[in-house]
Amino acid sequence: MIVDSKCNELLKTANMVSASLSGLQSLDTDRVTSIMSILDVSEGVRMLVTDHAGTVVYDNNTAFSVMGRGLMLAEVYTAFNGMDAFRCAYKGGAFESVAAVPVLYKSELLGIVCFHEVDKDSGALLLGIQTYLRNITLLVIVCSAALMVFFTIGFRRRLGKLSGAIDKIKGGQYEHRVVVGGHDEITDLASEFNDLSGRLQKTEELRRRFVSDASHELKTPLASIKLLADSIIQNEDMRMTDMRDFLADISNEIVRLTRITDHLLQLTRLDVDLAETEPEYLDLSDIARRAVRLLQPLAQAKGINLHIDAAPECIIEAGEDAIYQVVFNLVENAVKYNIPNGEVHVLTYVNEGNVFCLVDDTGIGIPETELSRIFDRFYRVDKARSRETGGTGLGLSIVRQTVEECGGKVWAENRSPRGSRFVVSLPYRGEAVGLEVR
Ligand code: ADP
Repeated sequence: MIVDSKCNELLKTANMVSASLSGLQSLDTDRVTSIMSILDVSEGVRMLVTDHAGTVVYDNNTAFSVMGRGLMLAEVYTAFNGMDAFRCAYKGGAFESVAAVPVLYKSELLGIVCFHEVDKDSGALLLGIQTYLRNITLLVIVCSAALMVFFTIGFRRRLGKLSGAIDKIKGGQYEHRVVVGGHDEITDLASEFNDLSGRLQKTEELRRRFVSDASHELKTPLASIKLLADSIIQNEDMRMTDMRDFLADISNEIVRLTRITDHLLQLTRLDVDLAETEPEYLDLSDIARRAVRLLQPLAQAKGINLHIDAAPECIIEAGEDAIYQVVFNLVENAVKYNIPNGEVHVLTYVNEGNVFCLVDDTGIGIPETELSRIFDRFYRVDKARSRETGGTGLGLSIVRQTVEECGGKVWAENRSPRGSRFVVSLPYRGEAVGLEVR
């Protein structure tokens, strides 16, 4: 920009001088000096005029005058060829500009006007701007580098905390939580990580409790079997009838062991989502009727009146064996934990988009405080009674897990004046088999 404005300014003035001189028939020192003395040309610009032979006839610099000599400048040669010429260069902190224009009289070249200017002010201004820009650039680079180092250290420190936490979890310290601070993706990652380790911790606790409960449950019948077998071995004179009783007890314990391992296997399969049967559209009423039919002999043996009211088309989506096991466990419990000559009533119906299966009994009931715990693995209100009736404490856990897997809910309530009610609610899927929405 500076160069453009200099070019315009110098060429304009040079052309103005050239126009003033073009009235002269020839350029000599006297005529040129007299014309130049009346022209108002800016100070600080060296002005030179040559005649048609290239000899300087006017030089406003008296100290270093080149009067009578030739001008060896490319711009001067260009001007002698009839064209304006301009050159500007930045050198030694100043702008040095040279402008040369021909002086013509009726197309005849009388000489040339040459301006030479050394502009230190603009040079200093440019130098100032250059230094300022350099300083700003340096400052920006230093600040960016400092910020980069700062963020990199912070980033590494926070990532280090995360990776340290991962190592701790790998080492089994599931209770470890990580705090990284800030509000960015690493903070989100840390909170996700804490969530995950929380879940791992819970799962690990459950697993430990389950393993310890399971081994305890398995140890009890095994200890009884060992005791009974030892008694037979040590007692050489044991009567045949006693021995048969002992063996019958051993057989009962083996049946119990088998039942526990069956239930454990069933739970493990549910845990790893290995349902034995593929889900299909089933009528829960059919399933309930089948379970009731199968448990009728047990109910009769205990003098219990077992009956069912099953509504038609209670369509659900579930694995047949799994859902049969659910109803069977609930009805079996209702019979097991009943009183002599008690009642068990099974009811199925559809209401507001859900299929319900209610199992009511007139049995011993469940203390209010235990109602939510009876679905926990190995939980039994009365251990002795459960053992007596061949219970494992796993039936209701299987029920809850299966029902939840089918998208339903199960809960227990106490009935007035006595007994309990177990409710299973599953989504109604009648519309999937062409029935109306209910
Ligand atoms: P179990 O094999 O001991 O029957 P469950 O998981 O089926 O195990 O039941 C857990 C506990 O819930 C039982 O031990 C019993 O104390 C209680 N329970 C279950 N069903 C009933 C019921 N219908 N009436 C009273 N108590 C029940």
